[in-house]
Amino acid sequence: MKTEPNVIEVENLTVAFGDFKAVDGISFYVKRGEIFGFLGANGAGKTTTIRCICGLLNPTSGTVLVDGKDVSSHTAVLKPRIGYMSQKFTLYPDLTVRENLLFAGSLYGLRRKDIKPRAEELMRFIGLSQHLNEPVKLLSGGVKQMVALAATLLHNPDLIFLDEPTAGTSPITRADFWRLIRTLAQNGKTVFVTTHYMDEAEYCGRIVLMERGRIIATGTPEELKKQFFPVPPVELVFTQPRQASVREDLQRLNLGTAENFSGGLRVRVTDMEGFKAYAQTREGVFTYRPVAPTLEDVFLKAVSGRNAQ
Ligand code: ATP
Repeated sequence: MKTEPNVIEVENLTVAFGDFKAVDGISFYVKRGEIFGFLGANGAGKTTTIRCICGLLNPTSGTVLVDGKDVSSHTAVLKPRIGYMSQKFTLYPDLTVRENLLFAGSLYGLRRKDIKPRAEELMRFIGLSQHLNEPVKLLSGGVKQMVALAATLLHNPDLIFLDEPTAGTSPITRADFWRLIRTLAQNGKTVFVTTHYMDEAEYCGRIVLMERGRIIATGTPEELKKQFFPVPPVELVFTQPRQASVREDLQRLNLGTAENFSGGLRVRVTDMEGFKAYAQTREGVFTYRPVAPTLEDVFLKAVSGRNAQ
């Protein structure tokens, strides 16, 4: 299998705001043409990291290289290659989609005669050509996000940063958005995406999980699942009226953590032998079966592991 070169290399990056470290000594790389998921709860330091990679913020210490070039000293060369759809990306509501794209293109220094066909091409790419002449204020939130993506791609960047592009959109828009992301990557673009939706993280080639400025896990979705769940989680279904004590027992006996799910409990088992022995003592009360872990499970386990340190 061909190994793609690293397009982004972040080494020991720290960003401090006064005494507070929003990003605290993180290192990772991104390969050309991959869909790279940068995940973490609110305030984990994702946007701050993206701003450093895009040359919008200087690190307090550490380095960020894009194609081997230090971003802080090569911003002008790297800028045309980067497309950044920030969380605060806004379109002008009274202008039509076409007018918005013409304006966004002019900010990238594109010529008007080049922007027009490019805008039309991108609206076809996102499957929303019919909205070109509509004022943005009449569009749904999901369509606006798609148009913001088109605006981000106008100058044909090969490194695309999408900061929570699907936040607050419908499941249909999310699916459409991810189809586009996959197409971009298939066309050789590198897509760096942040999301709070762990199901979306499954679409990423590799993932970095962040918490409070630090990396708590990194790998492909499959690697992370294997690393955090050598023992698979189990789904436990009550065969008698639900017994609240089971959940408490699991916690008290240190056998795992449990969450409610429709028919019973989903348990992230920490001690399978202990769990099986406990299940025997509750014969007839519940049945259980191992299930494949999700990235949500991985994230919760990674966070709880770190908090327990
Ligand atoms: P979200 O998903 O909410 O955007 P995030 O992971 O992108 O979260 P950041 O926006 O990078 O997180 O913020 C990380 C931390 O740094 C937060 O606690 C934030 O309040 C703080 N922070 C970010 N920018 C500044 C700033 N300019 N001055 C002071 N603190 C800041």
